[in-house]
Amino acid sequence: MTTMRFMSITGFILLAGVAALLLASRLPDGALSHLRQHPVGIVIHHTATPPAVNGRPVDVAFIDRLHAQRGFVVTSAAGTEYHIGYHYLILQDGTVQHGRPEHLRGAHTRGHADTLGIALVGNFERRDNRGRSGPLAPPPAQVHALAQLTSRLMVKYRLTSDDVHLHCDLGATACPGDGFPRAAFYQALAVPDALARRSNDHTP
Ligand SMILES: [Zn+2]
Repeated sequence: MTTMRFMSITGFILLAGVAALLLASRLPDGALSHLRQHPVGIVIHHTATPPAVNGRPVDVAFIDRLHAQRGFVVTSAAGTEYHIGYHYLILQDGTVQHGRPEHLRGAHTRGHADTLGIALVGNFERRDNRGRSGPLAPPPAQVHALAQLTSRLMVKYRLTSDDVHLHCDLGATACPGDGFPRAAFYQALAVPDALARRSNDHTP
């Protein structure tokens, strides 16, 4: 009798578990949309702004306000609200600032919320900048910091350079601008790419 009761309780727990799983699988798309298990790629942007506006540097706080006006918001499990759509922002002197945490979905490239977004502060699109919005190409310190950060994230998430995109390759935009040194940037990723492949290889 005791065994029977134990078994029926076990059965009930099992059934409840299955029911919970079924329910979870029926949740509408987007119910858990702010969470993501593993980024599938990295997308590079520019902010399309000058390095400073009205004497104030364009930094994470500035972009957070800008993206708040555009209605981007995500709340972390700890209850912190993030508006900034990028996961990282890199200033022209090479300073790397944190945007939304890596485990939260991005709001930077339409249809690619499952990628990490890195933005360089500046406007590197010649037709738009016209020499009035700072340098027409990212300074070497900024490109160096971008290559280092991208390489680190590639190794961390086992991505290859095929998973690293410029925004303009994924949508109808000039971002990160025609002044962005595409070839030099990808060349700087060559070594970590081999590392990423090696870490994917599980044979001893
Ligand atoms: Zn972009």
